[in-house]
Amino acid sequence: MADCLYCDSQDVRKNGKLTSWGQRWKCVSCHKQFSTWWARDTYSPEFKQKVVDLYCHSPANAREVLKTYGISSRTLVEWKKNHLPSCDKCEE
Ligand SMILES: [Zn+2]
Ligand SMILES: [Zn+2]
Repeated sequence: MADCLYCDSQDVRKNGKLTSWGQRWKCVSCHKQFSTWWARDTYSPEFKQKVVDLYCHSPANAREVLKTYGISSRTLVEWKKNHLPSCDKCEE
C-alpha cells in the first residue's frame, strides 16, 4: 500500500503495473496520480535509514526528499518516530 503524496489519503489504488522504477498509484480521494519509488513493503532498512537521515538532519531538504523518493509525509513521520530514540543528532 501507499499513501497519497498530495493529500495523505490511504485510499489509493494501483494504477498500472509495477515497473523497474516503481509503482503507479491513483488516489481515490483527490484523483491525482503519483508513483512510488518502490512498493512500500520492499523498503529495506538501509534505504529507510538513508531517507530518515536526510529528512531529519537536513530539514531544509525535507520536501525534496519526499518528492525524490516518492514517500508520503505520513510514512516519514512514522520512520522518524522509530529513528528518534536511537539518534543523538536529533532533539526531541
Ligand atoms: Zn490524494
Ligand atoms: Zn536523527
